Amino acid sequence: VLEVASRRRVVSRSDLARETGLAKASMSEVVDGLVADGLLRVIGEGPSNGGRPPLLYEFNPNARFAIGVELGDRGCSAVLANLDGVPIDSAVSEHHTSTAETAIAHAIELIDRLRSRVPAGALLGIGVGAPGQVDPALGVIESAPDLGWSGVPVGQRLADHARVRVAVINRAKAQALAEGLRGAGQTAGSFVCLTVSTGIAAGIVLDGRLLHDLAGSDGELGHMTIIPDGPLCACGNRGCLQALVSEQVVLGRVREDMRFGGSRVLFDLTGGRPDLVDLAVLEEALAREDPVTVRVLDEVGSYLGIAVANVVNLLSPDVVVLGGRLIRALPSLVDRVDETIRKRAVPRAARGLRVVASQLGWDAVPTGAAALVLGQVSEVGMVGQRRLKGPDTVVHPRSTALGRGDTPHGDVRPAATARRRR
Ligand SMILES: [Zn+2]
Repeated sequence: VLEVASRRRVVSRSDLARETGLAKASMSEVVDGLVADGLLRVIGEGPSNGGRPPLLYEFNPNARFAIGVELGDRGCSAVLANLDGVPIDSAVSEHHTSTAETAIAHAIELIDRLRSRVPAGALLGIGVGAPGQVDPALGVIESAPDLGWSGVPVGQRLADHARVRVAVINRAKAQALAEGLRGAGQTAGSFVCLTVSTGIAAGIVLDGRLLHDLAGSDGELGHMTIIPDGPLCACGNRGCLQALVSEQVVLGRVREDMRFGGSRVLFDLTGGRPDLVDLAVLEEALAREDPVTVRVLDEVGSYLGIAVANVVNLLSPDVVVLGGRLIRALPSLVDRVDETIRKRAVPRAARGLRVVASQLGWDAVPTGAAALVLGQVSEVGMVGQRRLKGPDTVVHPRSTALGRGDTPHGDVRPAATARRRR
C-alpha cells in the first residue's frame, strides 16, 4: 500500500484497493493506520462518480527517515534522507588519525547530530558505506588492508548505540547505488563507479542490478596489476593500480620531486616545504599549470585510464563515474582517464561510453547507504526510478530483536519495543 502511495503520491482508497489487489473492506483499516503514523495525510476530496466523493490521501515522504554514513580513514560524512531517499540534511567531519575506532567515534557524532533534527521514533535505520571487504550479514569490515583495519564490527557498534537497525556495505557499492538512484547512473543500464582515495574500489551495476557477493570482494580494482615489477603495494604484490594512483601516491610523487628540485610554483605555494603539499596545493598548482604537477597527473590519469579501459573491454558499461577524494580535488583527472580509455579500449566496447565525475560529492556514499535501508524497510526510497537490488541483510541492535519481515510502520519504534521488553 505504501509503495503504491509513494509512487502515485496522491491516491484514494479505491485506487489503493485496485492497485494492490487488497479487499476494499480491509483497506480502510490499513489507510487509517498509515494516516495515524503520519505516512499518509488527507488533502481533500476527489471527483465523485455518482456516490459520495472519495477522500484523497497524499504520501508524506518526511514521515520517516534513514541516516546514511560513509566511514573513512580521513573523514566521515552522513546524510539524513527522507522516504524518497532525498538527503534533507548532511554533515561531514574530517580527521587525521586513521584507526577504525576514530572513524566510528566520528560516525556516531554525525549520527547523533542528524538524529536530533527528527522526532524520536522517526528514524528507520542507518546505512553504512565502509571501506574494504565487508560481510553485510554480520555488519563487519572483515579486512581493509589499505587502512590496516580488520574484524571491525561497525554494524553492531552503531546498532547498539543508536538502537535502530543498521545495514553495512562496501562504500564503492554504496556509491554505485547512489549514482544509480540520484546521480550519473540514473539513465544508464550498466555503469561502473570508481572511488579513488586511499584505495581504489569499483561498484558495478549491470542491467540495473548491483553486482555483489556476501564478502563484498568484487570490485577490488585497486589491486589490478598494471606494472608487473612496479612499486610495492600494501597487499604485498607489485605494480598494483593503487600503488601507482592513490591519493597518498600522488602526494608522495610530488613531494619526492620537490626534494630533487621541484618547480617554482610548488616552491611558492609551500615555501619550499614538501611536507605542506596536499590536495589543495595540487589543485592550485594545476591551475597555474605547474609542470611537475601536470606530469604526475598525466601519468596517474594514464594508469587509471589503462585500468578502466580493461574494465570497459570486459563489461562495456554505458557510463564510468569517477568519485572519491582525489577526483573531487582534481576533477581534470577525468579528462585524462577518458583520453586513455579512447586510445586503449576496444572501440566497440567504448562506443557510446560516457566518462564523468560524480556530482554527488560527499553525499554520494551516505545517500547510497541510506537508500539501502529505505529499500529494505518498505521499498519506498526509490520512487519513480528503477529499483536497484542490493544485499538483503541487516544488523539489529542487540536485545531488541526486530523481525526482518515486519511492516514498515510496525517497525519504526525500536525504542518503544525495547522499553516494552525491559
Ligand atoms: Zn595491491
